[in-house]
Amino acid sequence: MTARNVLVTGGNRGIGKSIAEAMAAAGHHVVVTTRTGAAPEGLQAVTGDVTDTASVDAAFAAAEATFGGPVEVVVANAGITKDGLLMRMSDADFDAVLDTNLAGSFRCARRASAGMIKKRFGRLIFISSVVGLYGGPGQSNYSASKSGLVGLARSITRELGGRGITANVVAPGFIETDMTAVLPEDTRKTYQAAIPAGRFAPPEEVAAAVPFLASTEAAYIPGAVLPADGALGMGH
Ligand code: NDP
Repeated sequence: MTARNVLVTGGNRGIGKSIAEAMAAAGHHVVVTTRTGAAPEGLQAVTGDVTDTASVDAAFAAAEATFGGPVEVVVANAGITKDGLLMRMSDADFDAVLDTNLAGSFRCARRASAGMIKKRFGRLIFISSVVGLYGGPGQSNYSASKSGLVGLARSITRELGGRGITANVVAPGFIETDMTAVLPEDTRKTYQAAIPAGRFAPPEEVAAAVPFLASTEAAYIPGAVLPADGALGMGH
């Protein structure tokens, strides 16, 4: 196993924190970005807001200083929801979700690309959602941002796939984090009934996919959408 320099955005809680812990446990050098700069227990943090190009640049510069080298694995995990019915969704709520989830991931991939090209190794892992391809009522902004990550990953794959860089998408289903804790009970029940696995999952069951996609051995697995959703999306 080659220990890589790994940056996970939004690594202070939820799925991002779990991914950072899984990568650290696998022996990698891990830095998480947090908006406050405060580090969760056992992890190193740098300050970063993915909606701000200068902040992303500063976060990468701080991570590179910590590592003493370029970031080799980026896990673009930071994400938000601002649900609302189409007819009533404001421009601000649509834009905010696209800016964080899609443009934020783009900013991180763009910032990482030069170092990865130079190194002739890179792993870009975008945390999407089953909702990206499945759709979700009241989630036109969120779903559009998450399906956009598939186009982003596949375009990067076509552009940089010959340089040792892979770009992949992980599409979680319903995971027990702060994001889903706010779901109304009837919505939870409806989704739970539609999930062949019959349950929501802890963040660790998403995080388990990341050390594999980041590995040297996964060099021939680019442009994929890997579900971690109990088969809610049945492979999509
Ligand atoms: P949480 O709400 O628990 O955590 C979201 C993380 O993103 C936090 O660390 C948050 O930081 C960070 N974040 C939000 N906005 C920004 C920003 N502008 N810049 C930097 N960081 C930011 O969410 P989850 O852990 O549940 O979700 C993680 C990812 O997984 C998201 O992309 C989400 O869409 C996706 N996902 C989640 C699913 C679920 O069921 N939970 C299902 C499918 C996908 P802060 O603490 O400062 O707010």
